[in-house]
Amino acid sequence: MIGHTWAQQLLSRAAQRNRLAHAYLFVGPTSVGKTSLAMHLASLLVCSSQIGRPCGVCRGCKSVARQGHPDVRLIERASDRRDITIEQVRQLEGEIALTPYEAPHKLFCVAGADLMNDAAASALLKTLEEPPPNASLVLTAADPMSLPITIRSRCQTLTLQPVPAHVIADALQADLKVEDDRAKELATLAHGRPGWAVRATTDHDLVEREAAAYRAISALPRQGPYSRMVAIEALLGKGSFLETRARALDLLSRLEGWWRDALFAAQTGVAPDLRRFMVGAVDSVPASLPEIVGFLLKIQETASRVEANVTPRLAVDHLIGMMPTIRSVDRASS
Ligand SMILES: [Zn+2]
Repeated sequence: MIGHTWAQQLLSRAAQRNRLAHAYLFVGPTSVGKTSLAMHLASLLVCSSQIGRPCGVCRGCKSVARQGHPDVRLIERASDRRDITIEQVRQLEGEIALTPYEAPHKLFCVAGADLMNDAAASALLKTLEEPPPNASLVLTAADPMSLPITIRSRCQTLTLQPVPAHVIADALQADLKVEDDRAKELATLAHGRPGWAVRATTDHDLVEREAAAYRAISALPRQGPYSRMVAIEALLGKGSFLETRARALDLLSRLEGWWRDALFAAQTGVAPDLRRFMVGAVDSVPASLPEIVGFLLKIQETASRVEANVTPRLAVDHLIGMMPTIRSVDRASS
C-alpha cells in the first residue's frame, strides 16, 4: 500500500474499535490506490499477527493477496463486459448474507462501482438498505457522481488524493528495488497514481504513452491557439460523455501538476528535482508568477465545473484559451 496513510489509520482505528461502517465509498482517480486500500482493510480484518497489522506474511494476509480468502471478495467488471452485471451483484448479495467462515468480519469490494449498470445498482441498493451483520462493503469509484445518490448517501466516503511523487519514488525503490533515477522518472509520470507506477515498472508501452502525453502538455504553452486545439482534441479523444469527462478530469490533474512545477521553477529559478530528466519539462519558465498562480486557480475552477456536468470539451477549450504563453526565458542559466 503506497500513500494514503490517513485513510489506513482511519480504517485501522475503526477496525480495532469494531466500528467499521457497513459501507464505504473510496473515491479517487484511476490507479490512485482505491482497490489497494480495500484489500488493505481486508488484510486488517483477517490478519493473525498481534503487531504491525496487516503483517503481509501470515496465512490470512497471503490469502487476501492472492484473492483466495473465503471472507473477502473482489468484484470487478469482466474484461469482456461494458459494466458490472446484475448477476455479479446477486452473487454478492447471496454470499455477503452468510456468516464469516474464518475472519470475524467479511469484506466485499465492488471495484469500479461507477461501472455498474442500472439493474446492478438497484440490486446493490437492496444490500445497502439491509446491511448484513459482520460484513462491510467497499465500493470504489473514479466518478462517484455517476452513482445514484441513494447509494452514495448510504456509504461513508473516503476521498483519495494523488500521492506525492517522492512518496511513490521511495516506495518503488524500497519495495520493488527500482533503481533511483528510474524510480523518480516513473513516479513523475505516474502523476499521483501509485498503481500506475507499479505497473509501469514492467510495462514499457504504458510509460511511452504517458511520456507522450506529458510532452504534449509541456508543449502547450509554446503553441498558438490552433495547435493547442489540435493537441487537446488528441488528448481528450472521442467517446461517451462519461468517458470524455473522465479523460478531461485526468487531463486537468496533469495540467495542474505541470503548472505547479512551473510555479516552483518560477519561484526558485530551477526545475523541480524530479523533472530534470524530462524532455521539454519546465526548463524555461512560462509567464510571470501571478499569471501562473492565476492559471492554476482557473484549472481548479474548470475541474469543479466539469465535475458539475459542464460539457467537458467546452470547459477545457475555454481553459486552454486562457493558458499563459511561454516567455522562453531559461532562468536556471541566468
Ligand atoms: Zn497478517
